[in-house]
Parts: sequence; C-alpha cells; structure tokens
Amino acid sequence: MLSVSDAEGVILNLVQPLDQQRDIEIIDLLAADRRIISTPVTSKLDFPHWDNSAMDGYAVRYEDVQHSSDAQPTGLEIIAEIPAGYQPQSTVKAGQAARIFTGAVMPMGANTVVMQERTRREENRVFILAAPQPQEFVRHKGAFYQAGKQLLPRGVKLNPPEIAVLAAAQCTKISVYRRPRVAIFSSGNELVTPDKPLQPGQIVDSNQYALAALVKEAGGEPLLLGIIPDNPDALRDAIAYAITHADIVLSSGGVSVGDYDYIDQILESLGAKIHIRSVAISPGKPLTVATFPTDNSPIYFGLPGNPVSALVTFWRFVQPAIKKLSGLAGGWEPKFLKVRSHDQLKSNGKWETYIWGSLHLIDGVYEFYKAGGSYSSGNLINLAQTNALAMLPVGKSLIAPQAEVQVLQVS
Ligand code: AMP
Ligand code: MG
Repeated sequence: MLSVSDAEGVILNLVQPLDQQRDIEIIDLLAADRRIISTPVTSKLDFPHWDNSAMDGYAVRYEDVQHSSDAQPTGLEIIAEIPAGYQPQSTVKAGQAARIFTGAVMPMGANTVVMQERTRREENRVFILAAPQPQEFVRHKGAFYQAGKQLLPRGVKLNPPEIAVLAAAQCTKISVYRRPRVAIFSSGNELVTPDKPLQPGQIVDSNQYALAALVKEAGGEPLLLGIIPDNPDALRDAIAYAITHADIVLSSGGVSVGDYDYIDQILESLGAKIHIRSVAISPGKPLTVATFPTDNSPIYFGLPGNPVSALVTFWRFVQPAIKKLSGLAGGWEPKFLKVRSHDQLKSNGKWETYIWGSLHLIDGVYEFYKAGGSYSSGNLINLAQTNALAMLPVGKSLIAPQAEVQVLQVS
C-alpha cells in the first residue's frame, strides 16, 4: 500500500499539463478571473507612463531649494498649474516652480516635488519651508515596469490584482488555458438521483453533486455521466465513453474488495495500467488511479464510494492533479497550516488520517475544532459547515487538546 506522499508523487507525475498552443482560448478580460494565462504577457507601455508627482505640491528644481528652511525659505515664481490628466506646456527655469497635483505629469525643467504642507503660498509666489530630498515625490517613467519586459508569465492564475495589471496594460483580450474536462459518474445498484422517491435499500447519489461542485471550484468543467449500475457491461461502456471525452475521469464506488466492486477489473480489460490500488489514508483507502495506452490518455481516479472518503481523496489527490493539468505553473500540492487543535484528535497510527472540522479565528490565531457528531466515512451529515481537515501523520495516534496540528483548509 502506498503512502499518501508517494501516491501524490505518482499522480502528479502522471499529469501532463494542457498544451500551451492547442488547449487555449482567447477570452475577454472581464470574464478572465481565476483563469490561467497560457501565453506570457508583455506591454508596450512603461509604468508609470511618464514622470509624475506623488503629492499635491510644487514641482521645483532641487538646485533652487536645497538650502531652504523655516528661517530662510526660498521664494519661487509660480509659472503654471498642472492638474492630473494634463500635458504641461511650460518649462520650469531657475527661480520658478509649477503648482502640481498627485498623478500629474512633471513639467520640463523640474526634478523634485515639495509637498504643499512644507510651503507657504503668497499669490503667484511660493515659499519652500524645508529642503526636500533630490527627486523627492517624483515617480519616474518606467520605475515600476519597463515596456517590452515580461509583465506576467505563463501559468499565472488571474486573481483580481493580475486583472488590474492587465487592464492597466490595455490587454482586454487574454489567452488562457481551456478548463480541464472532468467526467464524473457514480457506480452502485443502490444509487438514485435526488429527484426520485427512495425505495427500501436505496440512497441518493450525493457524490456526483459534491464532485461536480469540487471540480468547478478547482477550475474544471464537469461532464456528468450519471449513475451506472454494478454491471460490468454498463460500466465498461461508461468508462470507454468517459476516457475519450475528458482529461480526468472520476468514478465513485466499486473500487473496494466487495463482490460488486468491478471497476479495477474493467479498467484492466480495457488495457489500463493501474498505478495505484490503495493508499494508506483514512478515510479513503480504496483508491484506484489508472491511465490508458492511448495518446492523451486521461487519468482515471476510482474514488471510494463513501461520501466522506470521496471528498477527502478528491481534496488530497484530485485537486492537485486538476491544478497541474490546468496549466498552473506551480503550487499544486495541498498547503498545510500549523494551528492549535481545540480538541483531542485520535487515529489508529497506521494510516495518514484526516479528521474534518472547522478553523476558527480566536484572537487572530487559527484553532481547529473537530466536527461534532459521529465520525464515520459513511456519515456525510457532520461534514456540513466544516472547512478544514486536520491531518495525523502515520505513527501519530494522538494529538492532545491545545497541541499543534497540521490542517488543510478545504473551503
Ligand atoms: P462502495 O465504494 O461502492 O463499496 O460504496 C461504499 C459506500 O458508499 C456504500 O455505503 C455506498 O452506498 C456509498 N456510496 C457509494 N456511491 C455513492 C454515491 N455516489 N453517493 C453516496 N453514497 C455512495
Ligand atoms: Mg458499491
């Protein structure tokens, strides 16, 4: 049985990121949030576009005012007023200043701005009451970014700051990777869709709904293939269809060792190479990962059917795979936070164990609270309103209240 980190390594090794030429689309910047850049962006603009003032004040020649003080102010003639958005027409010469406002273009001749709080105005003269630093309060053309350099590299996610940068650079159409397509189906004779009356022994296929939401959250496009009975022919047809229509296939159920758990044998009959059959993780031990001997084979994840196991294995293994596939340049692996545990946490010490609960901010410090109710991978109900998984590594069977624990933030 593979350890969790070995399984993660195997999975990330199998993932081929989307192609930077074939798997792209050009979209409007307004629709581009959370998408991933597929072509590096450069701009023809310098930032700032021109030398400009960082303050409301007076644009002066440093040479004229360098000895100014309260006792011996320097008097200058005001030759122009330069508001933001205006191209200055005159040149500041010896003994002169221009009234200037934040963001306005520096006039020719001036090299320093004196903030208005350090001046005294008398009609068309200004007195400088303190010596500035040379070039003080001037934002120089190209100081933040020079035209032609790389503005954003490939593989960056477009969060609001990147959207702002692209808008400022007038990039209103942007080349991004298409969303990874993720086929999802559930297997089990007991499963029905949520709109059907339940017959004795039946349960609702909640996994399909949960996995579709998780795929969307991870930036993928879910392709829902419904419920497939525990019947080898039906399963073979569903898998054969899924693997030709998706980058990743997720099934849930049917990967354990029961008499009706057919997934692994069908994968093998379709020529799949099974890379993982089970992982030392709780919940989620029966996890199948396979690929097919075709060009652009998708990665097949046979997730366990237990609702909590399906979610935990998605967060721990599928989410990093979707991130790598989607073209993100790095940071695919889950990031664990070290926090204090409010409660005692226990595991059998044999498997890497994930306990669901909530992170609460207590006086600015995160604390993990275990979910209430019964702990069973069959209990989906107490997963509601949780947002984190505490992780107990192999060999660690107890975490005492107030002790440190590693936690994965999941929503
Ligand atoms: P299996 O992995 O097929 O042995 O299923 C393990 C448990 O999870 C059984 O109790 C199933 O009824 C339940 N289960 C399987 N698939 C789903 C599903 N799609 N939604 C909710 N529960 C499921
Ligand atoms: Mg089953």
